[in-house]
Amino acid sequence: MNITTADRDIECILYTEEEIKKRVSELGEELYDLYKDSVPVMACVLKGASVFYADLVRAYKGHMLFDFIGVSSYGSGTTSSGRINFKKDFDNDIKGKDVIIVEDIVDTGLTLKYLKELLKTREVKSVQTIALLNKYECHTEDLDTDMYGFRIENRFVVGYGLDYAGYYRNLPYIGVLKKEVYS
Ligand code: 5GP
Repeated sequence: MNITTADRDIECILYTEEEIKKRVSELGEELYDLYKDSVPVMACVLKGASVFYADLVRAYKGHMLFDFIGVSSYGSGTTSSGRINFKKDFDNDIKGKDVIIVEDIVDTGLTLKYLKELLKTREVKSVQTIALLNKYECHTEDLDTDMYGFRIENRFVVGYGLDYAGYYRNLPYIGVLKKEVYS
């Protein structure tokens, strides 16, 4: 592998490009089994889930509708602010639809809880959430009905769409960022 400027800031790789590809393709099949009789609206939570979303929709073999919503809770730091900032709404009319929310990572679970509460007011048919990563030690919300790609420990990760201060999203793997980069 050619070591790039961004690679130098990575302490260790948690999931390689190949491992992610395999898991995302399994998730696409699992979702299709759940929704083969429906045309779900799959909503990508910008920007962190965008790379995962692009791969997941191509691993999903049925009809689906694209959507993008903007929510953030981290600002430019490495811990949740505890406040949700809703920046962009659905483009589709989601009333009566099956909605799948696609997240990059669940930390406290506040973002997903916020989105689920929001969807209750929109009279959707059903809501499913799927996140590539699950920081299972950090949940403050009850998230037992959600789907995940990988469980990870409480470490700050970047790559495959996940950023620190806007950088590292383009790394093809998921890695732990060296502490000296942000402390
Ligand atoms: P929650 O609302 O579950 O506490 O936080 C979810 C959001 O926090 C994610 O969508 C992501 O933007 C951000 N986040 C949580 N943990 C990490 C992490 O380890 N790395 C990065 N880059 N973002 C994270």
